[in-house]
Amino acid sequence: MEKLIYEKSRPGRRALVIEKPGVKEKKVSDLIPAQFVRKNSARLAEVSELEAVRHFVRLSHLNHAIDKGFYPLGSCTMKYNPKINDAMAALEGFRELHPMQPEDQIQGALELIYNLERSISEVVGLPAVTLQPAAGAHGEMTGLLLIRAYFQAKGDTARKKVIVPDTAHGTNPATAALCGFDVVEIKSNSRGLVDTEALKAALGPDVAAIMLTNPNTLGLFEEEIDVCQKLVHDAGGLLYYDGANLNAIMGLVRPGDMGFDVCHLNLHKTFSTPHGGGGPGGCAVACRKELEPFLPKPVILKEGDHFRLEWNRPQSIGKVKGFYGNFGILVRAYSYILAHGKEGLMQVSKDAILNANYLKHKLKSRFTVAYPQACMHEFVLSGNQQKERGVSTTNIAKRLLDYGVHAPTVYFPLVVPEAMMIEPTETETKETLDEFIEILAKIDEESKSDPEMVRNAPHTTPVGRLDEALAARKPNLSWTPDAN
Ligand SMILES: *Cc1c(COP(=O)(O)O)cnc(C)c1O
Repeated sequence: MEKLIYEKSRPGRRALVIEKPGVKEKKVSDLIPAQFVRKNSARLAEVSELEAVRHFVRLSHLNHAIDKGFYPLGSCTMKYNPKINDAMAALEGFRELHPMQPEDQIQGALELIYNLERSISEVVGLPAVTLQPAAGAHGEMTGLLLIRAYFQAKGDTARKKVIVPDTAHGTNPATAALCGFDVVEIKSNSRGLVDTEALKAALGPDVAAIMLTNPNTLGLFEEEIDVCQKLVHDAGGLLYYDGANLNAIMGLVRPGDMGFDVCHLNLHKTFSTPHGGGGPGGCAVACRKELEPFLPKPVILKEGDHFRLEWNRPQSIGKVKGFYGNFGILVRAYSYILAHGKEGLMQVSKDAILNANYLKHKLKSRFTVAYPQACMHEFVLSGNQQKERGVSTTNIAKRLLDYGVHAPTVYFPLVVPEAMMIEPTETETKETLDEFIEILAKIDEESKSDPEMVRNAPHTTPVGRLDEALAARKPNLSWTPDAN
């Protein structure tokens, strides 16, 4: 076992420090009031620069990442984000801005946010946009607060229900409940789509909205979306579009054109912000004209060549995030959109759909395909045949790690037993997809020849099988000298 960095620590050992000539550094005690200065120095490891570099490189390899290998985690869009967009966000003029700077010093930043709002409006086909929310679920909350404020302003206070299909992402019902609505679940039909009869039965004067994902979490396009939108609107309700995974539809179809009134999209899935490590995210919420007065404030107005923050928005739901949202994420999204252009964004979606259908077609001889029709950017397999041989979907997921591939999303959506939800994304080559097909074929063979070995996987990762509930609830993420 590799020695921990604290075990390598030797007093006084450090990297080269070059003192700045002629600069007298201030002492901490000159800068911080005495009562706040720590009495004992922090017990940090004292190592050479090389040892520090090795330490962090080693840590970075203990986990799986998109920069290391294939990551087909359905619904999460673990795709490659071009590094150029990180470089754009790190440009000094953006990076060094302070959110408290006066408006006339941040005209470029305001222009970027304004232009990004206009681009996203074009992509989703809805006129008004806010970029304040920090994540998808946060955007859902913002969207439902808009809907609530809209009905309140109309004096229509009876609408307390939000309809959510059973194929919805888990955040949808959670958001509706958080915003004070009663959640009504409707079952999907045998083809994995919204059952319009069930929808009809659930609608009434007490329904505020339906939250839909299209394509849904099975990766299937709701063919009767037009029927759905008419039913909901005729009943006086609104339609909320969960566009977290917009790489399924960009340039091909727009939520606004499908009849949706509000939608959110995750900038950290489709629009070039890396995610998965809990780092900052970004979200756009777009809505129809009728809902615009309720958007979070301030909004950015363009007056001639000047950009201005408007706070006088009496019907606004208020702020949902400090300042302007996560600005660095907005820079990445804008840079990504400009680099691709209209045709490029359309190509992204076409490639995402092509890759998913290719995998689905190639894998159907060994795994049960949950729904046979063509999919969008992702699809769901069932591991029920392997389960009969005593190898569960969990076992397959763990065995994939031995082959250097991250597992797909498993046991979701709940409507498919032993589910594996696979999203290859648009950024992978055909060779990578073929390798993945081969690996899954090998695991399928292993489930016949050596099921016990698959059941005990992974065998090559830094840690073996964990108690997943415990690891999620009480993660042990740091090493402290006292605990060892
Ligand atoms: C990821 C995702 C969300 C939630 O987004 P977060 O940024 O994780 O809050 C919502 N809906 C769908 C369909 C998603 O894939």
